[in-house]
Amino acid sequence: MQDKLETYRRKRDFRKTREPAGEQAKSGDSRRFVIQKHDASRLHYDFRLEIDDVLASWAVPKGLSTDPRDKRLAIQTEDHPLDYIDFEGVIPEGEYGAGTVLVWDTGTYENLRARKDEQRKGMQEALADGLIEVWLEGEKLQGGYALKRIEGGKKARWLAIKMNDEHADARRRPTSTQPASVKTGRDLDDVAAQESAHE
Ligand code: MN
Repeated sequence: MQDKLETYRRKRDFRKTREPAGEQAKSGDSRRFVIQKHDASRLHYDFRLEIDDVLASWAVPKGLSTDPRDKRLAIQTEDHPLDYIDFEGVIPEGEYGAGTVLVWDTGTYENLRARKDEQRKGMQEALADGLIEVWLEGEKLQGGYALKRIEGGKKARWLAIKMNDEHADARRRPTSTQPASVKTGRDLDDVAAQESAHE
């Protein structure tokens, strides 16, 4: 577990940022996910899936869509610690990923490939394969999502695509219509203002 988070820790100075250093152990059998809206040098959404003892992570510039016709670029980033799932706040200027973070959506997921594949792929295998299919039970997003790796390497490029099911909706556009945190109801400006007032 320590090794998996080495990149995450190397990029951050925990005397300066209030992001978690990653001490929390595995939570149990539940498989959780989070999507954090991150107003860094470029606004993006960080999609994270609990896989074993870390959060596998992708930066999705446009966020996940509810429209199956959209193919959203998702750039794989370093694994994050499990306790990052609750992180909402401001990463200070000069630190890695400086900017405001809010919990845009969170919930649990099911690995669809374990259900339907003959090999009953586990999430680690699906990640290695470059094809992840999950059913999300979030507050904003529900239903099947596929992640397909289109280019390998250190910052592998994937596409995130809504699967065609009863939760597919071409008109919903939740990133526009539901911008606030599901944890605190705050928008980015609220988080930034309240966090800087604490300093
Ligand atoms: Mn980010």
